[in-house]
Amino acid sequence: MKGIVVKAYNSYYYVQAENGREVPCRLRGKFKKGRFSLLVGDHVVFQDVPEDGSGVIEEILPRRNCLIRPPVANVDQVVLVFAATNPAPSPVLIDRFLVLCEHAGFSPLLCFNKVDEPDIEQDLQPLYDLYARQVGYRVFTLSAQSGYGLEALMECLQGRITAFAGPSGVGKSTLLNRLYPGFSLETGGLSRKISRGRHTTRFAMLLPLEDQSGYVVDTPGFSQTEFAQIGERELESCFPELQPYIGQCRFNGCLHLAEPDCAVKQAVEDGAIAVCRYESYQQIIGQIREAKKGY
Ligand code: GDP
Ligand code: ZN
Repeated sequence: MKGIVVKAYNSYYYVQAENGREVPCRLRGKFKKGRFSLLVGDHVVFQDVPEDGSGVIEEILPRRNCLIRPPVANVDQVVLVFAATNPAPSPVLIDRFLVLCEHAGFSPLLCFNKVDEPDIEQDLQPLYDLYARQVGYRVFTLSAQSGYGLEALMECLQGRITAFAGPSGVGKSTLLNRLYPGFSLETGGLSRKISRGRHTTRFAMLLPLEDQSGYVVDTPGFSQTEFAQIGERELESCFPELQPYIGQCRFNGCLHLAEPDCAVKQAVEDGAIAVCRYESYQQIIGQIREAKKGY
């Protein structure tokens, strides 16, 4: 039978079978020899052990991608959470998170939480226009506190494995608790910091949606941005709106910085690419170079 690993605990892997049944499974001995590690999110083939209702994992199907922290395989999309206010959203920070998602192959959904706070609507409009209209991401405005906008987000979770990510304090845990009322992550304050220490070291869990059509990772993913894994030549591929101009520059391998006759810089000048996005691109190239120098 085929299934997906939703939880790992006490040397059992809990596999949700295609028929919805959750089966505690052990790994066949042959997998334990190498340095291989089975992750939550992995698709496996297992055999029932009728005597005690458990199973044995016989085969691990190819993995499409994996998130390191928390360790989860086959993530389809990342809900990037920012706050409309407190902390105020910074386009540079948003771009840094978007780049990490794009580079890891997770399609990002961008959320602005806390829209229940007074006096924020005006500030969000330019961000919405930039990311939704100009760049083409899906952007949601919502309030984990009041429930506003959650249904639209829920619809996008159907049939997929979704992880949440974003800086701290934006409401990721509140949002997860809201989506899964049965589940409680501590939010805010000192207790949160303590629980987080433990949280990041343990395995993540996949929470099945009510209709079993998709899963959400219970532990928020990257909360900081680090670019050591990204090559400077790869960066252009992490900006969707740069794609029409790639290969149009005078020089092969143009990094779109100081090179003459650069199609990307021309597009920025013409207003087809937002100046702030191009500035983020330049800034991140700088950070990639610093990371490589070993700072
Ligand atoms: P995390 O660090 O991203 O997991 O953020 P938390 O979920 O711990 O939330 C940080 C703070 O923001 C807490 O004090 C929450 O009560 C508050 N918060 C979360 N969601 C909302 C919201 O929709 N509206 C408002 N006004 N506050 C929120
Ligand atoms: Zn160029």
